[in-house]
Amino acid sequence: MADSNDEEEFRNAMCSFCGKGHEEVEKLIAGPGVYICNICVEVTQGILKKEMSPRRNLKPNWDRLEAEADLLLKMRDEGEIDSAVARKRLIASMFDLLGFDFTDEE
Ligand SMILES: [Zn+2]
Repeated sequence: MADSNDEEEFRNAMCSFCGKGHEEVEKLIAGPGVYICNICVEVTQGILKKEMSPRRNLKPNWDRLEAEADLLLKMRDEGEIDSAVARKRLIASMFDLLGFDFTDEE
């Protein structure tokens, strides 16, 4: 049944950002093919609060971000990239769409 598959998928879901599972976090928010946990939302909010210029007009392009997320998940499912790379690229895209220059500092 489709419903029990969905339930099972949600039970096995993990945060697309930190990889923590459903039972390791208080809340896992589902997006289109991605999940984010309450901890990552808090961390992101903290980063944005600290780094956003108050004058910057925050209007992320969610459609583009979702399309990027779908593409990365497809690449991951097809074995072109692993989950860690997909996660990193998704976070980079998010910052990019928010208007940051995201450089991968070593
Ligand atoms: Zn997380």
